[in-house]
Amino acid sequence: THFGFRDVAENEKESLVHNVFANVAGSYDIMNDAMSMGIHRIWKDEFIRNMAPGPGTKLLDVAGGTGDIALRFLDFCKNIHRDSTASVTMVDINPHMLEEGKKRFQKTQYAHTNQANFLVQNAENLEAIPDASVDVYTIAFGIRNCTHVDRVVKEAYRVLKPGGRFMCLEFSKVDNPVIGKFYDIYSFDIIPTLGQVIANDRDSYQYLVESIRQFYSQDEFAKIIRDAGFSTVGKGYENLTFGVAAIHSGFKM
Ligand code: SAM
Repeated sequence: THFGFRDVAENEKESLVHNVFANVAGSYDIMNDAMSMGIHRIWKDEFIRNMAPGPGTKLLDVAGGTGDIALRFLDFCKNIHRDSTASVTMVDINPHMLEEGKKRFQKTQYAHTNQANFLVQNAENLEAIPDASVDVYTIAFGIRNCTHVDRVVKEAYRVLKPGGRFMCLEFSKVDNPVIGKFYDIYSFDIIPTLGQVIANDRDSYQYLVESIRQFYSQDEFAKIIRDAGFSTVGKGYENLTFGVAAIHSGFKM
């Protein structure tokens, strides 16, 4: 049946995504730098500046991977507010990625604190996270890998406290035709080659490029966020680097 086909396709996507991230876990941080020429660091810094977390913020970082967002968040709280009461729970569907994150945190000042926790969870069903329990929900470069984006956003709504904020950093659609041409060449030719050379894994990086192309436009995604019940300010997003990436955000009122 039609639904039978859809189920097969969905299972395939989940296991494909699992294999991609299991394959790339060890080389993930190096590849991130190589692929984005370091720009992902600037985007992530902007993401945390935009969040501007206050003292004691409880963050849930979904699809947390190796902990880039979590670490920047705790550093911001520490350096700006001298705050050691903020905390972050990182969740990811892939235990290999979380293991890389744990190893990394063990080398930081947060190693023996209760400021960072790790949990294996599917973003579409955060069963270990209670309703209305977090101040800020983040998902960075993770939502386009999920099968049901609308379920992910609804789960975000459920776990946020009233007044809480949903924030997503994700690749998006370039809004400039000239930059768009360069971007096409870069993503279709150069990124898979870098994957081949650095990680010996062309296919995984080919998948990542295709998943970027298939994801929603800025406005389509902003609508999904509003449809889940969030209130947005203005258009609901901010473009980064001509829309190569975007920050979407919404408040649970
Ligand atoms: N947030 C990190 C960052 O910005 O560097 C990691 C991003 S990484 C590109 C995407 C992560 O999403 C991977 O660690 C992958 O395992 C995770 N992921 C994919 N599907 C997921 C799902 N359904 N639920 C939770 N995590 C998922």
